[in-house]
Parts: sequence; C-alpha cells; structure tokens
Amino acid sequence: MSEGRVTLKTREEIELIRESSLLVGKTLGEVNKHIKPGVNTLKLDQIAEEFIRDNGGIPAFKDYNPSFGSSPFPYSLCISANEEVVHGMPGKNRYLKEGDIVSIDCGVYMNNYYGDSAYTFAVGEISPQKRRLMDVTKQSLYKGLEKAVAGNRLGDISNAIQRHAEAFGYSIVREMVGHGLGRNLHEPPEVPNYGRKRSGLLLEEGMVLAVEPMINLGRRFIKIADDGWTVLATDRKPSAHYEHAIAIGKNKVDILSTFEYIENY
Ligand code: MG
Ligand code: MG
Repeated sequence: MSEGRVTLKTREEIELIRESSLLVGKTLGEVNKHIKPGVNTLKLDQIAEEFIRDNGGIPAFKDYNPSFGSSPFPYSLCISANEEVVHGMPGKNRYLKEGDIVSIDCGVYMNNYYGDSAYTFAVGEISPQKRRLMDVTKQSLYKGLEKAVAGNRLGDISNAIQRHAEAFGYSIVREMVGHGLGRNLHEPPEVPNYGRKRSGLLLEEGMVLAVEPMINLGRRFIKIADDGWTVLATDRKPSAHYEHAIAIGKNKVDILSTFEYIENY
C-alpha cells in the first residue's frame, strides 16, 4: 500500500469521492438506528449491504482481497467491539451487548471511486472510562484534520493526533494507519497516527486521504486473532476508532465523509 506515487485528484474526482463517502455516512446512519443491546452483528451487516446496493453503490470491503495474505474479507462492515481495534467480523453468533463500544467501518465503491469512514458507537449505557476514550479519539481525529492544509506536512496531521490522545494517557496503535483514497480503497501515502511535526510528505491541494486514529485505553500493542482478520489490543483493554475521508484544502480541510446522519439522528 505504500508503493507507488501519491496521485492528486481533480475537482471532479474529489466530488465523486465525496458522493461515495456520503453514501458511507448515510449507511452508518442507517446502521446506527439498529444499534442496541442484543442486536446481531450479521444483521447489521445485511442492513448496510442492502442500503448501499439500494443507493447504487457496491460494498467496498466485501470480498476485499488484501495484499497481506489473509483470505478475502466476507462482509460489508468491519465491526470491532471493545478490545477489538479494527477489522472485526460480523457473525451469526455475535451480538452487541449493553456497555460495549463498537467501531463500525464501512466502505463504498461507486462511479469508479471509493468512500471510507468509521465511527465508534456506544451500545446502551457505557462506562465513563469508555465514553472518554471515544470522545478523545474523535477529538484527536479533528485535531489532525485541522492540520490537513496545503503547505503542512503529513507529520503535522500525525503529530496532532498523537499529542491529543497521549495527553489523556492513551496509546496510539502504530501498525495500522490511514491511507490515500481514490480509484483504490488503499492508496499511497500511509497516514500514521503518530509522528513528528514538519516531517514527511508535503501536503498539496488535491490529495485525498482517509485519516483514522485507532486509540487504545491501555498499551498500544496489537495482535491478529485466529480468524486472520480481527486486530485485538493485546492487553484486552478497549480501543476506539474514527475515520473521515478528506481532501487537503488550501486554507482548511475539506471533509468528504460525514457523521451527520449518525449524530443528528
Ligand atoms: Mg475505513
Ligand atoms: Mg480506511
């Protein structure tokens, strides 16, 4: 995924990525309506797939074939509860329960361009500890996006995310990163959630990125579960994850995905 060049997108291409990302946002909004204790995760996946297809898109994660040797991902959503960081799998025997926090990541392919966004949801009443982890993780995403302007460097985004999350004593997952987005779901550059200010790629108008902090309550270390996909916090403490698709702006970030359909429900 780090191979190759960073492509700059035209205005028209950015609008197509915005359309795909908007459908992701609407899909997450639809899924949100069904999140409650006792809901089956495979049902959530089916709701998402049907909604995406009804609206003219293709679920981007379904049958996604990774370069790292796992088998193709069989679902439309990644559903990652509690100590699951990302890439969790829906399942007919997997239900959400009261007190869970659950990251739901969704991708859409439409008109030759991808959209990608993720949100962490509370299931029923959650502990203040989990609530704060969610809030700080989302804040850290927006802290990073404040730096997503032409003339800054990629490390400015990464550093802003890291500084905010670590100020609360949380740790940054390092092995998993954000990415470029466009005609491919994962394009260069890699977008780490930690790094040094003024380091890395010079940001230019026309770059489209998926920025997605994965923040652990405990230590940063992860492992892959036996299913070959699910990324787990090794210490089994909760993890949160938010993702926006964005375009680098001249003076201000252009956020292409949206949480509006979740938060204004
Ligand atoms: Mg995603
Ligand atoms: Mg992504």
